[in-house]
Amino acid sequence: LKALTDKNIFETYEKIIGRLDFSENELQKPATLNEFQAKALLEIEKKFKEKPVVLLHGVTSSGKTELYIHLIQKVLDEGKQALYLVPEIALTTQLTLRLKKVFGKKLGVYHSKFSDAERTEIWNSLLNDKGYEVIIGVRSSIFLPFRQLGLIIVDEEYETSYKQFDPAPRYHARNAAIVLASMHGAHTLLGSATPAIESYFNAVTGKYGLVKLNQRFEEISLPEIKIINLKEAYHKKKMTGHFSDFLIEEMQKTLQNKEQIILFQNRRGYAPYLECKSCNFIPKCKNCDVSLTYHKITNALTCHYCGYTESYPSSCPSCGTPAAFSTHGFGTEKIEDEIKKIFPDARINRMDLDTTRSRKSYEKIITDFEQYKIDILIGTQMITKGLDFDKVSLVGILNADNLLNFPDFRSHERAFQLLSQVSGRAGRKDKQGKVILQTYQPEHPIIKQVIANDYEGMFMNQCEERKLFRYPPYTRLILLIVRHHDKQILLEASQQLTDSLRNVFGRRVQGPSDPLIPKIQNYYIKHILLKIEIEASPEKTKKIVRDCINSCLSQPSFKSVHLQIDVDPL
Ligand SMILES: [Zn+2]
Ligand SMILES: [Zn+2]
Repeated sequence: LKALTDKNIFETYEKIIGRLDFSENELQKPATLNEFQAKALLEIEKKFKEKPVVLLHGVTSSGKTELYIHLIQKVLDEGKQALYLVPEIALTTQLTLRLKKVFGKKLGVYHSKFSDAERTEIWNSLLNDKGYEVIIGVRSSIFLPFRQLGLIIVDEEYETSYKQFDPAPRYHARNAAIVLASMHGAHTLLGSATPAIESYFNAVTGKYGLVKLNQRFEEISLPEIKIINLKEAYHKKKMTGHFSDFLIEEMQKTLQNKEQIILFQNRRGYAPYLECKSCNFIPKCKNCDVSLTYHKITNALTCHYCGYTESYPSSCPSCGTPAAFSTHGFGTEKIEDEIKKIFPDARINRMDLDTTRSRKSYEKIITDFEQYKIDILIGTQMITKGLDFDKVSLVGILNADNLLNFPDFRSHERAFQLLSQVSGRAGRKDKQGKVILQTYQPEHPIIKQVIANDYEGMFMNQCEERKLFRYPPYTRLILLIVRHHDKQILLEASQQLTDSLRNVFGRRVQGPSDPLIPKIQNYYIKHILLKIEIEASPEKTKKIVRDCINSCLSQPSFKSVHLQIDVDPL
């Protein structure tokens, strides 16, 4: 068998059997809904009579999944199919078992880490009228051949992982799902505790139906959020490494109570950059205009944009000083290092891109944490994505500032979403959870809105700003990404293209400007941004933009210029 596999005649893949296969008589009815869920369910069904798309705005842990299960059951009873979209593979792991208990063999799971054979099986099953009736999957599931869809659920619809950019086809699965549903005459339900501004805007302006679910499931109260002012804490020497004394005390108590802790730091690796103590040299990627991240575990410097890696330099390549480097900033690896010294007996694990390269490692960390084999889980935004753990009573946010200071018009919305979602992981059936948020900006409006769980306040503020500066949802954006190996050619091409666009679109054109990382994989990059009125015809706009591009880039000297067009960039 191995010989045939080596010759690529056979392909080996693992198939999970047993654990997920319930026989028909073991299947359970959907759980009974509480009064708030039942009311929301009725409202959703009522809204669906008027609007094909409904947004369910439900606080974290409000039991949205149970609602979804009831809605899916009703669609199946009508002989139709349902698609349940989730933003991450990790979520299929947690949800599959729950859904299998109700839907048994009718449920199919679909994601990119399956082999071709497994995916073919799902395709064939969907085409067969005795095959799958419910699919849970990631964004690419919208391309599956459904016979007759009755419902598409897009859970945590604000997640950026729903957008595919590279490689093409470029699409946003939320928007594509709405189109797919309308082709089948089906309904679309968008769900989140922190909807995208655009989706909430569509709901309050009447394009979508809006249903709210403000009560947490089983009366779990929302967590108490305590702010630590980092400036003050450092000044008063109440810090050990990146941990405030208060956070350490609370962690101590939590461990004594045999409860679990999540620590959030939105950066992987040990330190985002190194600096030479004698000449201030900072090691950079040889292909990109970005500093190399230090990974202590591999003792290497790695570029997070192209993957270029070199070993830790024993002396400064610039001035020759031996053991010259100090670390700056901190990532999840450093947090792990520090926490092991503070709590040497605690069982600690880390969940980020580096520890979850395979589907198995993902599942193992989640299962270990669920089964209380881990006391403290450190993670990047990966741990915020809708995972539910019922023994977590403390969440520590090490530093909220890099989220707040990120230079992008969506950064405040994103910071609110991430901080609210990670906070939502705290809290149990019988006990209020606690969140400790460390920041240099305790007075920042977003921090206040996160504490007050004030989504509407955040929404109103962001809308005011975006209206003023003409950003979505008040305009549509088209981003032109221009790239070339030669800096001078790029400068000329991007300037000429901007000029020709400006002749037509005037002040709607911004740029050319440097992106955050102005060179990636030996390509220099410029951005040109168009802000187009919502009322403008997409076809006309597209044609004019195309014409400008074609006439500008057809010049012989610009033949090798690369251009990507991103409509509604995220
Ligand atoms: Zn040096
Ligand atoms: Zn690089």
